Amino acid sequence: MDIKELIRITEPSRLTPVTHSCRTLVCGGGIAGIAAAIAAAREGADVILLEREYGLGGMATLGLITIYLPLCDGEGRQISFGLAEELLRLSIKHGAEDSYPAAWLDGGTHEEKVKNRFLTRFNPHFFALAAEELLLSLGVRILYGTVACGVSKSSGGAISHVLIENKSGRSAIEVENVIDCTGDADVCTLAEAPTALYAAGNGLASWYYYLEENNPELKLKMFGLADLIPDREYDRTTHYDAGKVQTIAGARFSGVDGAELSEAVIAAHKSMFADILQSGVVPVRTSSIPLVRMSRRLSGAVTQDIDTDRKFLADSVGMTPDWRKRGPAFEISYRTLYTEKVPNLLAAGRCISVSDELWDVTRVIPPCAVTGEAAGTAAAMTNSFAALDITKLQTKLQSNGVKLHNG
Ligand SMILES: Cc1cc2nc3c(=O)[nH]c(=O)nc-3n(C[C@H](O)[C@H](O)[C@H](O)COP(=O)(O)OP(=O)(O)OC[C@H]3O[C@@H](n4cnc5c(N)ncnc54)[C@H](O)[C@@H]3O)c2cc1C
Repeated sequence: MDIKELIRITEPSRLTPVTHSCRTLVCGGGIAGIAAAIAAAREGADVILLEREYGLGGMATLGLITIYLPLCDGEGRQISFGLAEELLRLSIKHGAEDSYPAAWLDGGTHEEKVKNRFLTRFNPHFFALAAEELLLSLGVRILYGTVACGVSKSSGGAISHVLIENKSGRSAIEVENVIDCTGDADVCTLAEAPTALYAAGNGLASWYYYLEENNPELKLKMFGLADLIPDREYDRTTHYDAGKVQTIAGARFSGVDGAELSEAVIAAHKSMFADILQSGVVPVRTSSIPLVRMSRRLSGAVTQDIDTDRKFLADSVGMTPDWRKRGPAFEISYRTLYTEKVPNLLAAGRCISVSDELWDVTRVIPPCAVTGEAAGTAAAMTNSFAALDITKLQTKLQSNGVKLHNG
């Protein structure tokens, strides 16, 4: 038996100060958290966004996953709207790194839209800074360097406080509702909501930007793993090594074990360092958070499956294409965002309640923005998510430009 299983200590009891209070607490400042906080703040909610790092964007910016996968279905039809599109535009407000979607943003023909999917590549710094500026302009309070590490619940099972730790030590935030955008369903777990793990685990990856000798062009190496669209619109670009993604040998990791995550990051660093030295390039920036695809998710009121492709869902809160192929379009059920077990908690982004097969579709940037927007909008309307009148939420989302249904 592992020694960790045997030894326990009793921590001294303590009085924890309540340092903040808000209507909606968004935990995690990745794409889902940014979208959730924008949506809730625009609907008038008093929002705090807490983020364990000192920058916004999560995997997309700090992890250098700087490819905004398509908003369209590959057949010339836009599928994801609302904040999914607004954030794509924001990501390239100060210039696209590559793959500027001219056919979509500057008025192209249907044929051009089929040929060039509605995707882009962005500069992670511009995107993170522009997102921060936008959130602050909406009155969102951002708490960086802050980890959600516990919850306190009322007798009815709702979360009354979220415990946080940062440079000031441990304190509590009084909340009316919470949106878990941690990517790994951390708050759902702390609140004892039902969750599920991705049994197959994650492969190692560590992306980096680099310069070659006598070449001023900054390049991105997608080292380890990459979500490349099979029909490869990317290949016409020169800014990164599309089609040459080098895998890293090593055990798969769950993404939710602290020691194991460090081992995974160190193993990925080791391979990346060898690759840099062997290629003779100069690294300019490396991923600064672990690259995790699917780890732990909410087990919500419904677990939506891949067989919902092009199906009408009466409680749809937005849509996503399948980045992996042309054709599919999924309406996303509101019930993937909540559980009846914790009435004032929602999940958004890569930890919503979907089957393993659909998870690979909903974990990428556009659907994370879609579910973030839906969650933030709902959080401004109620503290009891299972009881929310879905038509009111849908009307609000539609008035903000979200398209809910196919056809
Ligand atoms: C190798 C790889 C390649 C990929 N390629 C692409 C691609 O080409 N295009 C694409 O669109 N998508 C791609 N993805 C997926 C995509 O980047 C992410 O899944 C998506 O950005 C997730 O957004 P999110 O907001 O749900 O989660 P995250 O980006 O994971 O954000 C979660 C945030 O919460 C913070 N956090 C976590 N726990 C806590 C806590 N307890 N307290 C406070 N803060 C916390 C984290 O620091 C992070 O900022 C790829 C992913 C991987 C791993």
